Amino acid sequence: MAAGWAEAVAPTPADLLTAATAAEVSASVRGAVAAARVGMRAAVAAPAGDALVLRGLLHEAGVEDDEMTVVPVGSGPVRIYCSHCRHTTVAVAAIGAVVPCAGCGLGLHVYYHVSRRSGHFLGFQEDAEKLPGGGGGTQ
Ligand SMILES: [Zn+2]
Repeated sequence: MAAGWAEAVAPTPADLLTAATAAEVSASVRGAVAAARVGMRAAVAAPAGDALVLRGLLHEAGVEDDEMTVVPVGSGPVRIYCSHCRHTTVAVAAIGAVVPCAGCGLGLHVYYHVSRRSGHFLGFQEDAEKLPGGGGGTQ
């Protein structure tokens, strides 16, 4: 897909950066954005978790939403930020799933909110609204 994008904009120069993970390509992306001139565009094709991380990286580097195209392809893990211990858990999970936090061990509900800065999903304790002992309550 990315090679097709580079061909589509020819003869406009395009840097094609490829890697197995967002972490592997992050430094190259930052360098390409730093060297870019007015009129640059960024396109990302990656599994959703890595695509969100790279989108956050581009945003942090100053790339505006209308200057980037992000297309999730394939499958892979996402990053879930624990609102209780602030650890980030990497797991293959869908929105609404429950995954154990790698930091504190709580079962985290994967909420649909995604940080624009980090690309991490918000996770919170799955049974946070249940009273201890399973009794009813009026909160
Ligand atoms: Zn945690």
